[in-house]
Amino acid sequence: MSRITIAIDGYSSCGKSTLAKALALKLQYSFIDTGAMYRAVTLYLLEHQLIDDEGNMDEKAVINSLSNIHLSFVYNDNLKFSETFLNGENVEKKIRDLRVSNLVSKVSAIKEVRTKMVLLQQKMGKEKGVVLDGRDIGTSVFPDAELKLFMNADEKIRIQRRLDEYTSKGQYITEDEVRKNISKRDYEDTHRKESPLIKADDAIILDNSDLDKQQQLDYVLRLINDLQLLK
Ligand code: C5P
Repeated sequence: MSRITIAIDGYSSCGKSTLAKALALKLQYSFIDTGAMYRAVTLYLLEHQLIDDEGNMDEKAVINSLSNIHLSFVYNDNLKFSETFLNGENVEKKIRDLRVSNLVSKVSAIKEVRTKMVLLQQKMGKEKGVVLDGRDIGTSVFPDAELKLFMNADEKIRIQRRLDEYTSKGQYITEDEVRKNISKRDYEDTHRKESPLIKADDAIILDNSDLDKQQQLDYVLRLINDLQLLK
């Protein structure tokens, strides 16, 4: 059976990673969370005082520091996905922090940051049999992906899902903080100069506002079957 590349792009907090993980598990593919990479770079910059909480940074110093950032991914058999390591440290929890979330779009807009991340993503996905989720997968990272999905969901539902995620991890963040973060990131991600978030011409739109996790997985598996992508 042929192995394909599945590119999942879309707005913040609409369940891209949830779908990507489920698809990877079902098809026995690898899952690459490209957002985690930009988050890890942001964490590094914060921890080395190369960016402050207002987003002030010396872009030259940031670019110079990129050669000190080494990302790796280690499969966690309990969680059934690969966790992100920054210079040898498991940062899976730290990178989901609101502090990182509030700065990541600013960092991901830097051309040199994107070049480094995209090369890594292309290297990791070159053998196919991979599901990637992000903002520019279908347009820049793997423009030849056999299946491209562009995801969205109602804003209210996206906010609620993100709140539930924080609560399940014991983190308490207000609805207003989540709303501001989501709309700020969507604005910055769609308006940046370097590979902005945009639907690839050949991407299929998936609005999952009224779908639960199983329904959205079933929908995409049916799509793969109908399009005969795994012949
Ligand atoms: O997917 P996630 O919400 O973790 O992504 C965090 C941020 O990383 C996005 O808001 C965006 O700024 C950036 N990103 C990106 N390109 C990708 C994936 C994420 O610019 N392929």
